[in-house]
Amino acid sequence: MRNRWLILRGLWCYATMRLWLRWAQIPVGKRLALGMFATITALLLPYLLLSFHSMHSALEEQQRLTLLRQLKAAQILLDHESQQLLRTVEDYSVWEEFRDAMLQGNREWVRTNILEWALPHFYLDAIVIFDQRGQVAYRAGKPVPGMERASNPLLQRARQGSSGMGFLREGNALYYVAYAPVLGEHYSPPQAGVLMFAKQLDKAQLARLWGRLNSTVQLIPPERVHGEWRIVEEPPGEPSAGKWIDHTHHSLFARLNGELTMGIPLYGIDGQVVALLTVSTPSVQVQAMQQAMRRTSLYLLAAGLLLTAGTTIAVLLMLRRHLTLFLQAANRLAAGMWEVRVPYPAHDEFGVLARTFNQMADQLQTAFEHQEQQRLEIEKQKTELEQLYEQLQQANQELETANQELLAMNTLLSQAAITDSLTGLRNHRAFQESLLSLVQIAERYQQPLSLIMLDIDHFKQFNDRFGHPAGDELLRQVATVLRQSARASDVVARYGGEEFAILLPNTDLNEAVQVAERLRQQIAAIQNPHAHITASFGIATHRKRSAPATLLYEADSALYEAKRRGRNRICIYGADAYDAAS
Ligand code: GH3
Ligand code: MG
Ligand code: MG
Repeated sequence: MRNRWLILRGLWCYATMRLWLRWAQIPVGKRLALGMFATITALLLPYLLLSFHSMHSALEEQQRLTLLRQLKAAQILLDHESQQLLRTVEDYSVWEEFRDAMLQGNREWVRTNILEWALPHFYLDAIVIFDQRGQVAYRAGKPVPGMERASNPLLQRARQGSSGMGFLREGNALYYVAYAPVLGEHYSPPQAGVLMFAKQLDKAQLARLWGRLNSTVQLIPPERVHGEWRIVEEPPGEPSAGKWIDHTHHSLFARLNGELTMGIPLYGIDGQVVALLTVSTPSVQVQAMQQAMRRTSLYLLAAGLLLTAGTTIAVLLMLRRHLTLFLQAANRLAAGMWEVRVPYPAHDEFGVLARTFNQMADQLQTAFEHQEQQRLEIEKQKTELEQLYEQLQQANQELETANQELLAMNTLLSQAAITDSLTGLRNHRAFQESLLSLVQIAERYQQPLSLIMLDIDHFKQFNDRFGHPAGDELLRQVATVLRQSARASDVVARYGGEEFAILLPNTDLNEAVQVAERLRQQIAAIQNPHAHITASFGIATHRKRSAPATLLYEADSALYEAKRRGRNRICIYGADAYDAAS
């Protein structure tokens, strides 16, 4: 038992979860619409059922009241008819002529004036006249044995002097009987007999009486009372509210063949119920009313459902319209249209949402504008940086150019620093440096190094006679000769004034003498426009471990020797005078 309960619970939880998961997948709008529709329908259906039920009750109540009213009307009509008959019989019973005819046994009179006249005149079915002894003296109309029977209580009552009414059943026929003693005036002489009038309550009579009631009024034999009818004993006093039963002592109600029926019992002369006077609504009418009621309910249900659906759709459309507003705004915002806002001025929930959304849009716009400003600033800075970079590049280039120019200048300068400006040969300083380095090289590699010093002869005179510029020109001519005949490794320099020096690396004394000789001849061969010139040469060769100044001194000494010996000649230091010219 416990296990089954647990399994059921588990299944219930699983089903609920599955349902919830599927429900959660439906779009919100549809969920809302479905929820609304289900709620309203759930409220509407019980309401309709209740209203249908109460309408049904009201209809039945209405029917019962109508029936009751008709029943009362029927009863009143029947009472009226009986009273009429009673009055008629009482009228006749006080006739003196009738009394006399009865007492005198004037049968002819009675037959003519009572039996033959009254029977058709009052639509009677039977007339019975008893004599003083209670024997039937006259009869007319249908034979009604019950009326004539000596035990008839109506007869007994009439013989005792009273008159009245009673119902009598004869087989299937029902009669209402009025009786009265034939008394005569002042009850004296004693009564002459009993007069009884009877009318049968058949269909024709009922139709005549109650035909206008528009309901089925019938008299039902008492046999049918049992089982299908119940007699309700109404307590004395006012009828309680809600009880639809007639407040007479005995009323009946039932459903016969589906028809609501009400009835009152009719009591016979022996005090027994001889018949029921019933009224029932025709079933066709009831069915028509019920159908009308059902149709009304259905129309109501359909109208309710339509209204629900309409309301739901209207709410859904409204929601959708509002949501579309927000969705469009959000999309535009996402597309960068920062100035977009939701135009919803109302103060409902959507209004609150719209204001919140707009505040958010404000903040976003501010942030974006700030960011945009920053971006522009950065762009600007970037442009400036790029411009600066370009300027820097330009400056670099200019610097590079300037550097190169400087380098060139430097080269020129350094070139100028070691070059003699007049002749283009190495100057005195460059010669000194070359002398030092070439002496070092010669020392290191054990190579010979020779130095030729030469001086133009009588240059002062030349200058004096032909002018200084002519002297300069001559210096340039001599320099050209020296440069052209020198090797690439030779260092040709203007030692000072009109004195030149030629360092010959890897050249021994003999080779130096040959070079000097060739130079002496070439100088002597210079074609000068002013005068023929010559030069004197001094040659020295570097000795191991001797100083550069020594070499210079020795060459200079040899040159001095050449001058002393008469110029235009070559002298070698330390040797006997060598004079190429000689
Ligand atoms: P010697 O044969 O003994 O060498 O006689 P000299 O006249 O050549 O000797 P001296 O050394 O007395 O004269 C050198 C002259 O050279 C003096 C100076 O006017 C001239 N001289 C020196 N340098 C230059 C120069 O650069 N240009 C010109 N035109 N003359 C110069
Ligand atoms: Mg000189
Ligand atoms: Mg000279």
